[in-house]
Amino acid sequence: MKIWAVANQKGGVGKTTTTVTLGGLLSGPDQRVLLVDMDPHGSLTAYFGHDPETATRGVYELFNQAVEGERPDPAGLIRETPFPGLDLLTASTALATLDRQLGTRGGMGLVLRHALEGVQDDYDYVLMDCPPMLGVLMVNALAACDELLVPVQTEFLALKGLERMINTLTMVQKSRKAQLNYRIIPTLFDRRTRAAHEALAELRRQYGDEVWSGVIPVDTKFRDASSAGQPLCFMIPDARGVLAYADLLETIGGRLPRTHGERRQAK
Ligand code: ADP
Ligand code: MG
Repeated sequence: MKIWAVANQKGGVGKTTTTVTLGGLLSGPDQRVLLVDMDPHGSLTAYFGHDPETATRGVYELFNQAVEGERPDPAGLIRETPFPGLDLLTASTALATLDRQLGTRGGMGLVLRHALEGVQDDYDYVLMDCPPMLGVLMVNALAACDELLVPVQTEFLALKGLERMINTLTMVQKSRKAQLNYRIIPTLFDRRTRAAHEALAELRRQYGDEVWSGVIPVDTKFRDASSAGQPLCFMIPDARGVLAYADLLETIGGRLPRTHGERRQAK
Protein backbone atom coordinates (compact mmCIF):
# COMPACT_ATOMS: atom_id res chain seq x y z
CA MET A 1 0.00 0.00 0.00
CA LYS A 2 1.41 3.36 -1.06
CA ILE A 3 0.36 6.38 0.98
CA TRP A 4 0.55 9.84 -0.55
CA ALA A 5 -0.39 13.13 1.06
CA VAL A 6 -1.39 16.12 -1.05
CA ALA A 7 -0.64 19.30 0.88
CA ASN A 8 0.06 22.99 0.61
CA GLN A 9 -0.72 25.65 3.19
CA LYS A 10 -2.39 27.71 0.52
CA GLY A 11 -5.96 27.17 -0.67
CA GLY A 12 -7.08 27.03 -4.29
CA VAL A 13 -3.88 25.50 -5.64
CA GLY A 14 -5.43 22.24 -6.82
CA LYS A 15 -5.03 19.92 -3.82
CA THR A 16 -8.52 18.48 -3.95
CA THR A 17 -8.47 18.28 -7.74
CA THR A 18 -5.14 16.43 -7.59
CA THR A 19 -6.46 13.99 -4.98
CA VAL A 20 -9.67 13.26 -6.90
CA THR A 21 -8.01 12.92 -10.29
CA LEU A 22 -5.13 10.71 -9.16
CA GLY A 23 -7.61 8.63 -7.16
CA GLY A 24 -9.85 8.22 -10.19
CA LEU A 25 -6.95 7.29 -12.45
CA LEU A 26 -5.53 4.73 -10.04
CA SER A 27 -8.77 3.01 -9.11
CA GLY A 28 -10.45 0.15 -10.91
CA PRO A 29 -12.00 -3.24 -10.28
CA ASP A 30 -8.50 -4.68 -9.93
CA GLN A 31 -6.91 -1.84 -7.96
CA ARG A 32 -8.22 -0.32 -4.76
CA VAL A 33 -7.79 3.28 -3.68
CA LEU A 34 -8.78 5.01 -0.45
CA LEU A 35 -9.24 8.78 -0.46
CA VAL A 36 -8.96 10.44 2.94
CA ASP A 37 -10.36 13.93 3.47
CA MET A 38 -8.26 15.61 6.16
CA ASP A 39 -9.56 19.11 5.42
CA PRO A 40 -12.28 20.45 7.78
CA HIS A 41 -13.71 22.31 4.79
CA GLY A 42 -14.60 18.91 3.42
CA SER A 43 -14.27 19.74 -0.29
CA LEU A 44 -13.33 16.18 -1.15
CA THR A 45 -16.23 14.89 0.93
CA ALA A 46 -18.64 17.27 -0.80
CA TYR A 47 -17.20 16.30 -4.19
CA PHE A 48 -18.63 12.82 -3.70
CA GLY A 49 -21.99 14.11 -2.52
CA HIS A 50 -21.64 13.99 1.27
CA ASP A 51 -22.33 16.98 3.48
CA PRO A 52 -19.35 17.77 5.73
CA GLU A 53 -21.71 19.69 8.05
CA THR A 54 -23.61 16.54 8.95
CA ALA A 55 -21.20 13.73 8.04
CA THR A 56 -20.51 11.40 10.91
CA ARG A 57 -18.41 8.28 10.43
CA GLY A 58 -15.16 9.67 9.14
CA VAL A 59 -11.77 11.03 10.10
CA TYR A 60 -13.19 12.81 13.17
CA GLU A 61 -14.41 9.52 14.61
CA LEU A 62 -10.92 8.03 14.26
CA PHE A 63 -9.63 10.70 16.61
CA ASN A 64 -12.52 10.08 18.99
CA GLN A 65 -11.58 6.42 19.13
CA ALA A 66 -7.99 7.37 19.92
CA VAL A 67 -9.11 9.76 22.67
CA GLU A 68 -11.20 6.94 24.17
CA GLY A 69 -8.05 4.88 24.28
CA GLU A 70 -9.19 2.54 21.51
CA ARG A 71 -7.13 1.63 18.50
CA PRO A 72 -8.38 3.80 15.62
CA ASP A 73 -10.17 1.52 13.18
CA PRO A 74 -11.37 2.89 9.84
CA ALA A 75 -13.18 -0.32 8.84
CA GLY A 76 -16.66 0.82 9.89
CA LEU A 77 -16.09 4.40 8.76
CA ILE A 78 -15.06 4.02 5.13
CA ARG A 79 -17.68 4.64 2.44
CA GLU A 80 -17.84 3.37 -1.09
CA THR A 81 -18.14 5.79 -3.98
CA PRO A 82 -20.06 4.95 -7.18
CA PHE A 83 -16.71 4.15 -8.81
CA PRO A 84 -15.26 0.63 -8.60
CA GLY A 85 -12.24 0.41 -6.34
CA LEU A 86 -12.57 3.99 -5.09
CA ASP A 87 -13.47 4.46 -1.40
CA LEU A 88 -13.66 7.52 0.81
CA LEU A 89 -13.05 8.44 4.42
CA THR A 90 -14.97 11.68 4.91
CA ALA A 91 -14.13 14.90 6.71
CA SER A 92 -16.63 16.78 8.81
CA THR A 93 -16.60 20.42 9.84
CA ALA A 94 -16.14 19.17 13.43
CA LEU A 95 -12.52 18.51 12.47
CA ALA A 96 -11.96 22.26 12.76
CA THR A 97 -12.34 21.93 16.55
CA LEU A 98 -9.85 19.12 16.87
CA ASP A 99 -6.81 21.19 17.75
CA ARG A 100 -8.69 22.99 20.53
CA GLN A 101 -10.20 19.75 21.80
CA LEU A 102 -6.97 17.83 21.95
CA GLY A 103 -5.06 20.78 23.37
CA THR A 104 -1.64 19.69 24.49
CA ARG A 105 -2.66 16.07 24.82
CA GLY A 106 0.28 14.00 23.61
CA GLY A 107 0.35 10.94 21.39
CA MET A 108 -2.15 12.21 18.86
CA GLY A 109 0.30 12.54 15.98
CA LEU A 110 0.11 8.93 14.82
CA VAL A 111 -3.63 8.33 14.90
CA LEU A 112 -3.98 8.24 11.14
CA ARG A 113 -0.90 6.16 10.66
CA HIS A 114 -2.15 3.52 13.09
CA ALA A 115 -5.58 3.62 11.48
CA LEU A 116 -4.16 3.01 8.02
CA GLU A 117 -2.11 0.07 9.28
CA GLY A 118 -5.48 -1.57 9.89
CA VAL A 119 -6.43 -1.42 6.19
CA GLN A 120 -3.03 -2.22 4.79
CA ASP A 121 -4.24 -5.31 2.94
CA ASP A 122 -7.39 -3.67 1.59
CA TYR A 123 -5.89 -0.92 -0.56
CA ASP A 124 -3.15 -0.40 -3.11
CA TYR A 125 -3.08 3.38 -2.71
CA VAL A 126 -4.14 5.89 -0.09
CA LEU A 127 -4.40 9.56 -1.04
CA MET A 128 -4.89 12.21 1.63
CA ASP A 129 -6.26 15.66 0.88
CA CYS A 130 -4.70 17.90 3.55
CA PRO A 131 -5.98 21.07 5.20
CA PRO A 132 -4.35 24.39 4.29
CA MET A 133 -3.28 25.00 7.89
CA LEU A 134 -0.73 23.50 10.20
CA GLY A 135 -2.29 21.55 13.04
CA VAL A 136 -2.88 18.05 14.31
CA LEU A 137 -4.46 16.96 11.00
CA MET A 138 -1.51 18.08 8.91
CA VAL A 139 0.92 16.53 11.37
CA ASN A 140 -0.99 13.24 11.17
CA ALA A 141 -1.02 13.26 7.39
CA LEU A 142 2.70 13.97 7.14
CA ALA A 143 3.47 11.28 9.71
CA ALA A 144 1.38 8.71 7.86
CA CYS A 145 2.51 9.25 4.29
CA ASP A 146 5.37 7.73 2.30
CA GLU A 147 5.53 10.66 -0.04
CA LEU A 148 4.25 14.19 -0.18
CA LEU A 149 2.84 15.90 -3.26
CA VAL A 150 2.77 19.69 -3.11
CA PRO A 151 0.60 21.30 -5.79
CA VAL A 152 1.73 24.86 -6.45
CA GLN A 153 -0.18 27.27 -8.60
CA THR A 154 2.10 28.75 -11.24
CA GLU A 155 1.86 32.37 -10.15
CA PHE A 156 4.22 34.42 -8.01
CA LEU A 157 2.06 34.75 -4.90
CA ALA A 158 1.81 30.99 -4.68
CA LEU A 159 5.56 30.63 -4.27
CA LYS A 160 5.35 32.34 -0.87
CA GLY A 161 2.88 29.77 0.41
CA LEU A 162 5.24 27.07 -0.73
CA GLU A 163 7.99 28.41 1.50
CA ARG A 164 5.70 27.99 4.49
CA MET A 165 4.84 24.45 3.46
CA ILE A 166 8.51 23.49 3.17
CA ASN A 167 9.18 24.94 6.64
CA THR A 168 6.36 22.85 8.06
CA LEU A 169 7.75 19.83 6.35
CA THR A 170 11.22 20.40 7.79
CA MET A 171 9.71 20.65 11.25
CA VAL A 172 7.69 17.45 10.93
CA GLN A 173 10.62 15.68 9.32
CA LYS A 174 12.41 15.63 12.68
CA SER A 175 9.75 13.45 14.30
CA ARG A 176 9.73 10.91 11.47
CA LYS A 177 11.83 7.81 11.28
CA ALA A 178 12.06 7.72 7.53
CA GLN A 179 12.95 10.71 5.40
CA LEU A 180 9.89 12.25 3.78
CA ASN A 181 10.36 12.99 0.11
CA TYR A 182 8.27 15.65 -1.50
CA ARG A 183 7.53 16.59 -5.04
CA ILE A 184 6.28 19.96 -6.17
CA ILE A 185 3.55 19.81 -8.82
CA PRO A 186 3.12 22.99 -10.88
CA THR A 187 -0.65 23.39 -11.32
CA LEU A 188 -3.14 25.66 -13.04
CA PHE A 189 -0.52 26.43 -15.66
CA ASP A 190 -1.83 28.85 -18.24
CA ARG A 191 0.70 28.60 -21.04
CA ARG A 192 -0.67 31.67 -22.78
CA THR A 193 0.41 34.03 -20.02
CA ARG A 194 3.94 35.21 -19.51
CA ALA A 195 3.36 35.36 -15.73
CA ALA A 196 2.80 31.60 -15.64
CA HIS A 197 6.02 30.90 -17.54
CA GLU A 198 7.96 33.22 -15.25
CA ALA A 199 6.53 31.68 -12.11
CA LEU A 200 7.35 28.21 -13.41
CA ALA A 201 10.92 29.23 -14.22
CA GLU A 202 11.31 30.72 -10.74
CA LEU A 203 9.91 27.58 -9.15
CA ARG A 204 12.41 25.41 -10.99
CA ARG A 205 15.24 27.80 -10.19
CA GLN A 206 14.48 27.72 -6.46
CA TYR A 207 13.50 24.10 -6.01
CA GLY A 208 15.26 22.34 -8.86
CA ASP A 209 14.87 18.58 -8.82
CA GLU A 210 12.04 18.66 -6.31
CA VAL A 211 9.81 20.07 -9.05
CA TRP A 212 8.07 17.61 -11.35
CA SER A 213 9.26 18.08 -14.94
CA GLY A 214 5.70 18.40 -16.27
CA VAL A 215 2.87 20.79 -15.51
CA ILE A 216 -0.85 20.45 -14.87
CA PRO A 217 -2.47 22.83 -17.36
CA VAL A 218 -5.52 24.95 -16.73
CA ASP A 219 -8.40 22.82 -17.93
CA THR A 220 -11.89 24.20 -17.39
CA LYS A 221 -13.29 20.69 -17.61
CA PHE A 222 -12.12 20.10 -14.04
CA ARG A 223 -14.85 22.45 -12.90
CA ASP A 224 -17.49 20.54 -14.90
CA ALA A 225 -16.28 17.30 -13.32
CA SER A 226 -16.52 18.84 -9.88
CA SER A 227 -20.13 19.92 -10.50
CA ALA A 228 -20.91 16.42 -11.75
CA GLY A 229 -19.29 14.84 -8.68
CA GLN A 230 -17.09 12.62 -10.81
CA PRO A 231 -13.35 12.38 -11.29
CA LEU A 232 -12.69 13.94 -14.70
CA CYS A 233 -10.97 10.80 -15.96
CA PHE A 234 -14.32 8.98 -15.94
CA MET A 235 -16.03 11.72 -17.94
CA ILE A 236 -13.35 12.72 -20.42
CA PRO A 237 -10.46 10.24 -20.23
CA ASP A 238 -8.39 12.15 -22.77
CA ALA A 239 -8.92 15.65 -21.39
CA ARG A 240 -5.66 17.61 -21.31
CA GLY A 241 -5.73 17.81 -17.54
CA VAL A 242 -6.30 14.08 -17.16
CA LEU A 243 -3.41 13.20 -19.48
CA ALA A 244 -1.14 15.48 -17.45
CA TYR A 245 -2.09 13.74 -14.20
CA ALA A 246 -1.50 10.36 -15.88
CA ASP A 247 2.01 11.56 -16.79
CA LEU A 248 2.55 12.61 -13.21
CA LEU A 249 1.57 9.15 -12.01
CA GLU A 250 4.21 7.63 -14.23
CA THR A 251 6.86 9.82 -12.61
CA ILE A 252 5.84 9.10 -9.03
CA GLY A 253 5.47 5.37 -9.50
CA GLY A 254 1.71 5.05 -9.70
CA ARG A 255 0.45 2.17 -11.80
CA LEU A 256 -2.74 2.63 -13.81
CA PRO A 257 -5.23 -0.22 -13.36
CA ARG A 258 -5.68 -2.76 -16.14
CA THR A 259 -9.09 -1.29 -16.92
CA HIS A 260 -7.63 2.11 -17.74
CA GLY A 261 -6.93 1.25 -21.38
CA GLU A 262 -10.43 -0.15 -21.85
CA ARG A 263 -11.85 3.02 -20.37
CA ARG A 264 -10.06 5.10 -22.95
CA GLN A 265 -11.07 2.83 -25.80
CA ALA A 266 -14.68 2.85 -24.71
CA LYS A 267 -14.76 6.57 -25.21
P1 ADP B 1 -7.49 23.32 -3.16
O1 ADP B 1 -7.97 21.97 -2.76
O2 ADP B 1 -6.00 23.45 -3.11
O3 ADP B 1 -8.16 24.43 -2.41
P2 ADP B 1 -8.98 22.85 -5.61
O4 ADP B 1 -8.50 21.56 -6.15
O5 ADP B 1 -10.28 22.86 -4.89
O6 ADP B 1 -7.85 23.54 -4.72
O7 ADP B 1 -9.03 23.87 -6.84
C1 ADP B 1 -9.52 25.21 -6.69
C2 ADP B 1 -10.42 25.54 -7.88
O8 ADP B 1 -9.66 25.49 -9.08
C3 ADP B 1 -11.56 24.55 -8.08
O9 ADP B 1 -12.69 25.25 -8.54
C4 ADP B 1 -11.06 23.61 -9.16
O10 ADP B 1 -12.11 23.06 -9.93
C5 ADP B 1 -10.19 24.51 -9.98
N1 ADP B 1 -9.05 23.80 -10.57
C6 ADP B 1 -8.14 23.03 -9.95
N2 ADP B 1 -7.22 22.57 -10.82
C7 ADP B 1 -7.54 23.09 -12.02
C8 ADP B 1 -6.97 23.02 -13.33
N3 ADP B 1 -5.87 22.32 -13.58
N4 ADP B 1 -7.57 23.71 -14.33
C9 ADP B 1 -8.69 24.45 -14.10
N5 ADP B 1 -9.27 24.54 -12.91
C10 ADP B 1 -8.71 23.89 -11.87
MG1 MG C 1 -9.26 21.52 -1.19
